Amino acid sequence: MELNRRELFKLSGAGALGTAFAFSPSFGAAEKPVKNVPKVLPDSKGNRVVIVGGGWAGVTAAKYIKKEHPKAEVVLIEKRKVFFSCPISNTWLADMVNLDFLLHDFQTPAAKYGYTFINATVVDIDRDKKRVYTNEGYVGYDYLILAPGIRYNYGAWFGNDTDMARYCATHYPSAFIPGSEHIALKRKIENFEEGDFVLVVPPPPHRCPPAPYERAAMIAYMMKQNGVKGRLIILDPKDKIKPKGPGFMAAYEQLYLDMVDYVPNAKVKEIDPVNKVIKTTAGDFKFADANINPPHQAGDLVWKAGLIGKKDGKPTGWAAVDPLTLQSKADPNIFLAGDVVAVKGFPKSGHMANSHSKNMLVKALVALMKGQDPKEAVKAPDNTCYSMVNAEPQEAIVVSVKYDLDKKAGAPKKAGVKVINERSGALAKSTFEWAKSFYRDMFS
Ligand SMILES: Cc1cc2nc3c(=O)[nH]c(=O)nc-3n(C[C@H](O)[C@H](O)[C@H](O)COP(=O)(O)OP(=O)(O)OC[C@H]3O[C@@H](n4cnc5c(N)ncnc54)[C@H](O)[C@@H]3O)c2cc1C
Repeated sequence: MELNRRELFKLSGAGALGTAFAFSPSFGAAEKPVKNVPKVLPDSKGNRVVIVGGGWAGVTAAKYIKKEHPKAEVVLIEKRKVFFSCPISNTWLADMVNLDFLLHDFQTPAAKYGYTFINATVVDIDRDKKRVYTNEGYVGYDYLILAPGIRYNYGAWFGNDTDMARYCATHYPSAFIPGSEHIALKRKIENFEEGDFVLVVPPPPHRCPPAPYERAAMIAYMMKQNGVKGRLIILDPKDKIKPKGPGFMAAYEQLYLDMVDYVPNAKVKEIDPVNKVIKTTAGDFKFADANINPPHQAGDLVWKAGLIGKKDGKPTGWAAVDPLTLQSKADPNIFLAGDVVAVKGFPKSGHMANSHSKNMLVKALVALMKGQDPKEAVKAPDNTCYSMVNAEPQEAIVVSVKYDLDKKAGAPKKAGVKVINERSGALAKSTFEWAKSFYRDMFS
C-alpha cells in the first residue's frame, strides 16, 4: 500500500530543511531587509553604476562599462563565492570536462578592469533613495543594473504547499541555477542503476531553450555507458523540440535507441514527488529517479524592485524594458540584463546575456552618462548555441542567430537564423572553443 505522501514526507525529515531555495513570493517568508547598518561604500560622486548579479550579463557589463567609460565608478555585487558556468555543465555531467573548466573567479577581472567587487547578497532595493541593501550594509547608486538571473516558480505546481515544493527541489533538483544542484544531479546520474529516469522540460520561456535536450542526450549517454537497465523519459510541454529538433531527435534515435522515450505535449498537471508520480496531459508517469525542472521567472530582486512587466493586468514574470537600451520601463535609472529581460526574439542564453550587455545596455548607459543619445549608441547583438549530443565520439549541433536593429520601430529583429542539425566532431570542438572565448572575455 502506498504511504500517504504527507506521512512519508514527514518521515523523510524534509520538513526540517532550511530556506536555501528560491521560490516565488508565495513561498515562505520574504527576507527581512537589513536597513539599520552602515553604508558599505562612501557616497557616490555622481557616476556610480552598481551591478547586482555577477553572472554572464553582470560580469560582462562591469568590464565593458570600465573599458568604454573609465571615469565611471563600477561596483559589482554578487552573492556567490565562485562563478559556476551553466553552459558546458551538461558535458561535465558526461565527464567530458573537469569541474575546473566551469569555475571562474570574480577577483581577476575586477582587478584588471578596475571595478569594485563586493561578495554580498542584495536583499532589498530602495528606488527613491537609490540604494541597494545587502547583508553587509547599503550601497548608493546613480545607475543600477539588475542581472540576478532566474528563480524557480514551484508555486505553479505546488501552490502554497512550500513543504512539498521544497521536498521536490531537494530530492529532484533542477540544476538550472548553477552550483550545488548540478553536483547533486551528477551524483544521481552516476548512481542510477535501473528503471525510468524522467526529465521534465520546463515550459517556455525558460533559461536556455536547448539545454534540457542536450542534458537528455548526456544522461542517455551515461546510462548507456553504465549499462543501466532502464529508459530516459523526456516529458516536454511543447509539441516538438525547438530549436535543433531534427538534430536532437536523430541523436536520440540513432545513438540511444530503445533508451530515450521523447513524449511531446506532456504539460505537467500534478507532481507527487514523494510517491514518484507525474501526471501530465500526455498521461501519468511513475519514475525511479528524475530531473524535475519547474517553470522559470525573473529573479526575486526584479519583483522586489517592482520592475516586472504586465500583460492583461497580470505579471508576465519578466522585466519590462526598452528593447533597444534595456532600460527599465518603470525607472530610467535602472537597466536590466541577462535572462530577466523580455525582448521579443531574444533567447535566455549566456551568449545573448554577454552580447546584449556589451552591445546594447553598456553602449546605451555610457551614452546616457556622457549626455549622448542612448538609442543611437546601441549595436545589434548575436547568439550562437552549440549542443553536445554524443560524448564518445564527441559530436554537437548548433544554431546561430543574427539580429538587426530597427531603430525606427525601436526594437531588434532577427536578420538570419542558421541551424546545423548534422552532428559532427568539428562542432564539438567549436563548442569548447566557444566556451573558452566567452570565459576569456569575462574573466581574464
Ligand atoms: C544546463 C544549462 C546549459 C546551458 N547552456 C548554455 C549554452 O550552451 N550556451 C549559452 O549561451 N547559454 C547556456 N545556458 C544559459 C545560461 O546559463 C544563462 O542564460 C545565463 O547564465 C544567463 O546569465 P544571467 O547573467 O542572466 O544569469 P546568471 O548567469 O544566473 O547570473 C545571475 C547572478 O546573479 C546572482 N544573484 C542573484 N540574486 C542575487 C542577489 N540577491 N544578490 C547578489 N547576487 C545575486 C547569482 O548568484 C548569479 O551569479 C545554459 C543554462 C543551463 C541551465
